[in-house]
Amino acid sequence: MERQKILVVEDEPDILDVIRYNLEREGFRVLSSRDGKEGLDTVRKELPDLVVLDLMLPGMDGLEVCRRMKSDPVTSPIRVAMVTAKGEESDVVVGLELGADDYVTKPFSPKELVARVRAVLRRGPFKEAEATSSRISLPGLVIDPDRFEVTVDDEPVSFTATELRLLHFLASHPGRVFTRSQLLSRVIGEHAVVLERNIDVHIRAIRSKLGSHNDLIQTVRGVGYRFRDGS
Ligand code: CA
Repeated sequence: MERQKILVVEDEPDILDVIRYNLEREGFRVLSSRDGKEGLDTVRKELPDLVVLDLMLPGMDGLEVCRRMKSDPVTSPIRVAMVTAKGEESDVVVGLELGADDYVTKPFSPKELVARVRAVLRRGPFKEAEATSSRISLPGLVIDPDRFEVTVDDEPVSFTATELRLLHFLASHPGRVFTRSQLLSRVIGEHAVVLERNIDVHIRAIRSKLGSHNDLIQTVRGVGYRFRDGS
């Protein structure tokens, strides 16, 4: 199999070296850019499988790089793992809504970064069409949207239509973080006049119905929610 190609866009040489070393050791082919403009040019020229994208870059910042990548059909399927500084959750939210796949917060361990990169590559590009009505079966939890049934530890539990859709949507994309606004538009529908914090109310209800499996839905502080990735 051809080695997967990763572009690292990072202006701090020490961090770039650490990331490069660890990804190369894992067998990836690693390219690098030191600023946003050059990074975007390299993305267009090399079409890597994934971009590790620092958000704080000289010239064009990482969010702008992401925005331009995602607005071009040639580069939009390329996966993006953002690198952010602590306390930049609002940038993370913007990045995820632009189409970035995941993020790590500095300081991060190389092991954590490699694990995130692998997870993002494994689950493939996000597809809207994935939110189908297929049955999901996990240890202790079965979600069957066609029959409108959820069972927790083999017991049927009654869910509202919104709760079931929300649970099914999250469980269809394990490991992926969604912002409240993404959940609202994808699960509830953009026409709905609801506040983002209503998502929190639905999540609370779902968790209480999941009983001992309530940790399947994880809160990502300042950002949104994620279904636990069991793989
Ligand atoms: Ca930086």
